[in-house]
Order: sequence, then structure tokens, then C-alpha cells
Amino acid sequence: MIEKWIENKRIAIASKHQKQQVIQPLFLDLFNCTFISTDIDTDLLGTFSGEIERKLSSYETAIEKCRMAFKVTDADYAIASEGSFGPHPTLFFVPADEEFLLFMSRDEKLIIWAKHISTETNYNQIDNPTEQELKDFLIRIQFPSHKVIFKGEKKIEKGIENINILNQLVSYARQNNHTFRIETDMRAYCNPSRMKVIEETTHKLLEKINSNCPSCDLPGFSVQEAVKGLPCSQCGLPTQSTLKHIKVCQHCNHQEEIFFPRGIKEEDPTYCSFCNP
Ligand SMILES: [Zn+2]
Ligand SMILES: [Zn+2]
Repeated sequence: MIEKWIENKRIAIASKHQKQQVIQPLFLDLFNCTFISTDIDTDLLGTFSGEIERKLSSYETAIEKCRMAFKVTDADYAIASEGSFGPHPTLFFVPADEEFLLFMSRDEKLIIWAKHISTETNYNQIDNPTEQELKDFLIRIQFPSHKVIFKGEKKIEKGIENINILNQLVSYARQNNHTFRIETDMRAYCNPSRMKVIEETTHKLLEKINSNCPSCDLPGFSVQEAVKGLPCSQCGLPTQSTLKHIKVCQHCNHQEEIFFPRGIKEEDPTYCSFCNP
């Protein structure tokens, strides 16, 4: 039973960017647990807008954030999230939002994480735009529901959602021949698209938490690999479709193979590269 690990436990979300709005309700749908809010400055570990350079990986940063949350609360578990933005790893030139969500126990024996990449992001920036370019940019990134950051030569202003404030900053820069950049503010509470991706990542995390290992009984028994090769129903040759999932325990490394995870034992010849090249 997974419940014994989570029921009536206290969970802290290591964030000051209101991510609990999406994470908390999804946990409460499954478990009877309590959430503790924290007000820790996780920005000290690195920010998106580049004032503080990130030196740790997403995994290491998330672990550090959880440790910070444990210091200031008496929570049993902590959840930390890390987002990174840039070109999609396989779809070139398509911007992507990669979210990493980590759930950790105070003694650090239980660490479960999930990663999710989405192209549903407005991540973008523009340098010294003309009036028209700025207009088009703001429409494209869904301003003002999605806030922006203004970076001038003398001034950085974050979380801008008021067009008058943005226009003032831009006119001042133009009048003084200063260069400036406007970029999407990717902090979760400034960016509803990112909140949505964090929500999807939470579903993935909960799916992992909500399955326990048949060998050691700890939560976090999850699919680590999908193996291709489902046979074609006409010629019997292996196709690119998934034949089996390999589930691995994140704690004791116990493994299990789940054949035919989609519930079908043969693939339609439409998807066979021999029958339908
Ligand atoms: Zn195990
Ligand atoms: Zn075939």
C-alpha cells in the first residue's frame, strides 16, 4: 500500500513562485496529506534571467531546494521543481519547456522524480524591437496574461504585466540610445503556460509515487524504458511500436517486464515498414 507512505504526512513545496497552486490539488486528489508553504529564496540557487548563474544540474538543484525546505519546516517530504527553457532536444528551432519535479523524504532515502518536455511554451526574447516588432512579439507571447522582463543597460524590471510601464521603459531606452531586451518571464506565477507543464509533470510524478516495488515495497516503481518490436499482424516482423515496458525500482533496482502495455499483441500492418514501406 502506497498510502502508508503519504497518508497524514506533511509535504513542503520548496518554491516561492506559487507552484503549489497546481501541485497541491493533484496530490490531495490521491492522498490525505497536509501541505506546508515555505517562503525560501530558491533564487539563490540560480535564476532564469541570469543574474545568478546556475552551477548545479536540475537533479542537484532540486535536492538542494528540498534540503532548504526541510531546514525551515518540520515537513516529512519536500517537493522541488526546476524548469529549463531552450531549443527542443530533437525538434530543432522549436522552443521547449523541460520541467523536473522531485519528491524527497527528510532522511533522503526516498527520492522520486519525473521529467516532462513540452513545446507548449511562449519562451522567447527580442532585442531593440521597433514599435511594430514589439507589438507582434507581445501578441505572440500572450502578453499580458504572460508577464515579461525588461532588461535595459541600467535597469532590469521583472514581472511586467502593465503595457504603460513597459512602454515607459522602452521610450526611456530609445530616447537615450540604450540597447534593451524584452523577454518572457518564465517564473511559474508569471507564466500560465509553464504552470500547465508543471501540472502535467505532477501527473507523471504522482504516477511514479503511486506504484510500489513488489520486492522492497517502496514507492517509485516506474517505467524506465519502452522497448520497440511489437510484431506485425500480417508478416510477423518487429515494428517500431512498443513491445514491452521495463519497470525499475529506484531504490533496490528490482526489474519487471510488462509485455503489450497498450493491450494489443500485434501491430496493424499500416505501421509495418515491411508491409507498408
Ligand atoms: Zn524495490
Ligand atoms: Zn508486416
